[in-house]
Amino acid sequence: MQPMPEDWERAVAVVAHPDDLEYGVASAVARWTGQGKQVTYLLATRGEAGIAGLPPEKTAPLRTEEERRSAAVVGVRDVEFLDRPDGLVEYGIALRRDLAAAFRRLNPDVVITMSFDLTWGEDGPVNHSDHRAVGLAVLDACRDAANEWVFPEAGPPCAGIRDAYVASGDPTHFVDVTATIDAGIASLREHRAYLAGLGHDFDPDEFLRNMAGYTGLGAGCDYAVGFRRYPMG
Ligand SMILES: [Zn+2]
Repeated sequence: MQPMPEDWERAVAVVAHPDDLEYGVASAVARWTGQGKQVTYLLATRGEAGIAGLPPEKTAPLRTEEERRSAAVVGVRDVEFLDRPDGLVEYGIALRRDLAAAFRRLNPDVVITMSFDLTWGEDGPVNHSDHRAVGLAVLDACRDAANEWVFPEAGPPCAGIRDAYVASGDPTHFVDVTATIDAGIASLREHRAYLAGLGHDFDPDEFLRNMAGYTGLGAGCDYAVGFRRYPMG
């Protein structure tokens, strides 16, 4: 693993649901915003199908607010939603167009997303279909955004995306989050209704320290977040 380069100014972090970024990536976001970088969150859904016993029309505004608070804790003011239906996000042209339009408008240097593998690790549980759809569409939309002949109605092309980084269990790069993991933990704690709805004890502090500590072992620091780099150049 190499340290992830930090010679960039703007990132867009794209995931399917409120809470996805807070399960690890937010600690890295806190480091970046602390360096003065601009990070925008772009969520495909509002997570309205994510709390058992709470109907979607009540859950959507609740989780929208929790995501905005989570983002603020790690220095992110811009949180956008594509309002796809939670649980039913489709990989396809329509999603790629919306993502490409956002990239053209926001003009990021790097794009962050999360694993679109079929499973979490070799023997782990099946990765959510929304995560698979969004992650793959993000990689394709990075290229779409740079091509003036693809989605010409979605704004002038942007050729500035150098790399996409996918939060992955099989990383090529790491971000040292030793100094910012506390902010990452506080960010996850903002998902109060969601965490309460899990129906079992879950300790954000223990979970995130375990995960980042394990990645840190390979990175040579106390706590790290791992990403797999997909170059766009
Ligand atoms: Zn999710």
